Amino acid sequence: MRVLVTGGAGFIGSHLIDRLIARHDEVRVIDNLSSGHSEFLEHHIHSAQFEFYHGDVCSLEDVIEATKGIECVFHLAANPDIRLGTQVTDTDLRQGTIATYNVVEAMRINEVKTIAFASSSVVYGENAPMPTPEDYGPCMPISLYGASKLAGEGLVSGWVGTFGLQGYIFRFANIVGSRATHGVTYDFVHKLRKNPNELEVLGNGLQEKSYMDVGDCVDAMLHIMSTRNDSLNVFNLGSHDTISVRDIARIVIEECEAKDAVISYTGGDRGWAGDIPKAMLSIDKMLETGFNVRMTSEEAIRHTARTVLKTLR
Ligand code: NAD
Repeated sequence: MRVLVTGGAGFIGSHLIDRLIARHDEVRVIDNLSSGHSEFLEHHIHSAQFEFYHGDVCSLEDVIEATKGIECVFHLAANPDIRLGTQVTDTDLRQGTIATYNVVEAMRINEVKTIAFASSSVVYGENAPMPTPEDYGPCMPISLYGASKLAGEGLVSGWVGTFGLQGYIFRFANIVGSRATHGVTYDFVHKLRKNPNELEVLGNGLQEKSYMDVGDCVDAMLHIMSTRNDSLNVFNLGSHDTISVRDIARIVIEECEAKDAVISYTGGDRGWAGDIPKAMLSIDKMLETGFNVRMTSEEAIRHTARTVLKTLR
C-alpha cells in the first residue's frame, strides 16, 4: 500500500514507519522537523520504499503535493505540547484544526480513501467516568490541544459522511517508549541528570494516568485497521492500568540511581492549566479486536526511563 505519514519524523510516527516498511508498504513522510528528528528515520533513507518530503501540514499546497498517489494517510503531525497552547493560543488551532482540515481536503482532492487520525484521551475532558468508553459524551475538553483534537475528529467524521472517506480515530492514552522526546518520564530523567539531588514534580504528584508503550500503540493501530472496516472507526488505545506521578518519580529515581534525590512538589492537583489529573481509557473495544498490550503502565515507564538514559550516556 502507498502510505503517507504526517509527522513521520516524530516519536510515534517513526515507530509506525518501521512497521510499515517491514510490511513492505511504500511510505512517504511529510514533516517540517519542528519537533521530529531526521535521525529517527535515517535507517530508511536509502530504501526504495521510503520518501521524505520536507513540508508543512499548515500549507494546503504542501499537503496536496504530499498526498498525490497515496492510498492511506496516517495523520500524526501536530503540536505535541499541551502547555504551549496556553502561551500562544492559536498554536493548536493552526497545527491541529487547520492542519487536519488541510489533510482531509487534500485527500478529497487527490481521491485518497483512508485516514487514521492520532487523537487523544484528553478529548473526554475531566468529568468522564473511568475507565472511559469510546461512546462517552458529550466530550468537553479543557485544553486548547484537546479542543483541536476534538475538532480534528469532527473534520474526519464530516469528510467521511460527506465525501466517502474511511476514517480511523485513535484516542491515545499517554504514549511512552524509545525515541520519546517529551513527557513526564523524559522530563524527570533530564532533571535528575542535571541535578541528581533534587527532583521537582509539577502538581502534588497524585495525578494518575494510563501509559502505553509506543510499540503497543502502533501495533494496535495496524491491527485494528486490518480487522475493522466500518466507514468510521473510533478506538481508545491504552493499557490495562494507571500509575501515579509519585510512582513514576520513584521509578525514574531508581533507574537514574539518584537515591539521594529530594522530591519537591509545586502543589495543586494538576501539572499545568488544562491538564487532566486522572485518566483511564476503557480498552475493551480494542481488546475485542484480538489485540492486547504487552506492557503495563509501570513496565512502559521503566522501559522509557532506561531508553532515555541510554541516549544520554
Ligand atoms: P512528536 O512531536 O514526536 O511528533 C510530531 C511530528 O509532527 C514531529 O515530527 C513534528 O516535526 C511534526 N510536525 C509538527 N507540526 C508540523 C507541521 N506543521 N508540519 C509538518 N510536520 C509537523 O509527537 P508524538 O508524541 O509522536 O505525537 C504524534 C501524534 O500523536 C500527535 O498528533 C499527538 O498529538 C498525538 N498524541 C500523542 C500522545 C503521546 O503521548 N505522545 C498522546 C496522544 C496523542
